[in-house]
Formats: sequence, structure tokens, C-alpha cells
Amino acid sequence: YFISPEWFHEDSVTIAGDDAHHLIRVMRAKAGDQVIVSDGVNREALVRIREPEKDRVVADIVESLPMDREPAVEVWIAQSLPKGDKMELVIQKGTEIGADRFIPFVSERTVVQLDAKKESKRIERWQKIAKEAAEQAHRNRVPTVEAPLSWKQLLQLAGQADAAWICYEKENGLQLKHQIQEALSKGKAIRIDTAEQGTPAKLQTNGVNDRIKLLLIIGPEGGFSEQEIAAAEAAGCRSVSLGRRILRTETAAMVGLTCILYESGEMG
Ligand code: SAM
Repeated sequence: YFISPEWFHEDSVTIAGDDAHHLIRVMRAKAGDQVIVSDGVNREALVRIREPEKDRVVADIVESLPMDREPAVEVWIAQSLPKGDKMELVIQKGTEIGADRFIPFVSERTVVQLDAKKESKRIERWQKIAKEAAEQAHRNRVPTVEAPLSWKQLLQLAGQADAAWICYEKENGLQLKHQIQEALSKGKAIRIDTAEQGTPAKLQTNGVNDRIKLLLIIGPEGGFSEQEIAAAEAAGCRSVSLGRRILRTETAAMVGLTCILYESGEMG
């Protein structure tokens, strides 16, 4: 399964770059082999490979396939930059599960220092991880991974979402579950119950742009300060609990994302 917006022509696709290399050298593709290709926007097709060339693969479209693996809700994960390679884990696993956007940010207790020189290389690496994870999960689109935001910029972004939740381990009132249900009931996506027992309810939208946008904000290893929670609430975020146990920052992101997609009827 390969994704690129640039490959599609009328009746054929031209696979280039690292993906062509992977097909030719690693998968040893030969004429007649079939693979699935997506433009990451709205086209997906089963294609038959012509005789592979040195550094590109041209393939004929055998059949256009319906694209229906994207969640009906759009989840943006804002992750306070974690130590080591945990951001990579969040991006890889979050892409498999179904996140749409990864937004690293810096908050009061973020330990990692931003290094302007290394930043673009790091973002490139994160985007590559998202692409590979999207391909392995047969996602129809590759989530975006954005340049780290300041705390102030993150709070401005919260205003663009239909609902914004800041995960706070000291919160003992608002559970994410209730917040999700409330947001979904007001959302642009419509919940429709399927007739069969045991089949989860599905959400239906009028198209990708109509999907409800949900922002999930996760703090660093040292958590958020009370002032940060107050500032986030003043900016329209709701402080929510993910349960009584303290989760590691990278675990919290995955748990929050899974809860949202589960409540949206996306998990099976
Ligand atoms: N010290 C651990 C670590 O190194 O990752 C745990 C840090 S926990 C304070 C990190 C972030 O995860 C918090 O800022 C919060 O956003 C989220 N989090 C963890 N457990 C949570 C819970 N039970 N409810 C809500 N948010 C939680």
C-alpha cells in the first residue's frame, strides 16, 4: 500500500522516489504484480505494474477502490514535546489508530530544548514516520505533523477546533467520555445506529471537510501547572480526566485518542 498525492494520471500511476526504490529493490516487484496506491486525498486504486524501470514504476489502474477508512471525526493531538524518541512513538501509533494531525508544543515544564538548526530535519523524520505508519495501516491519508508551537500559539489553535480538551491528571470532575458524547451530539458528523446488535454506531458526514475537529492536549512528563490549566480553560479548552491512574505522557495521548474514536463508533 503506497500513498502519494503526485502519482495519479488518468489511467495509470507513476511511483517514484523512496517508494519506487522499495518496490524495485526490497519487494522485487515485477511486471504484472498488483499493489494498492492512494493519492492521500480522494483516490485509491488497485494497479498492475508494468516492467519496472531503473528508478520509477509505472502501473496501470485495474480498479478504482472506495476510500472509507478515515474516521468520521478529525482528532488533532497536541503533544507537549516529550523526551527521547517518544514523539516518534506517538506519531507512529497515533497514525495507526487514526489521528489526523500531530502538533508538538512547548509548555512550562517541557524539558526538551528546541534547536532551530535541527528542527526541520526532525519534522521531516516525523513526517516520514507518519507516512510509513499510514501506509502500513492502509489509511487513506497521511496525517500532518507540524512544527512545534509555543503555548500561546497552541491556545490560539484551540479556538479553531469544535472542541478542545486538555488532559489533566488532577481533574476529578470531567471525564473525557462525557465530553466526547456532548461534542458529538452537537457536531457536524451525525451518529447513525446500525441495526445489527453488537455493531458499533457509525458516524456519517457530508464529506471530509465536514468532519468534527477535536483537539486533545497532552502535557509533558512533569504535567501542566495550575496556571496553564486556567489559561487553557480561559481559551475555551475543557480540562478532562483519563481515569484515576497517572499515565505516561505518550500513553495518555494514545488512550485519549482511542477513547474519542471508540465513542465515535470507529473502533470496529
Ligand atoms: N511522569 C509520567 C511521565 O514521565 O510521562 C507521567 C506524566 S503525566 C503528568 C503527563 C501528561 O499525561 C499530563 O500532563 C496529562 O496531560 C496526561 N495524563 C496522564 N495521566 C492522566 C490522567 N489520568 N488524566 C488526564 N490526563 C493524564
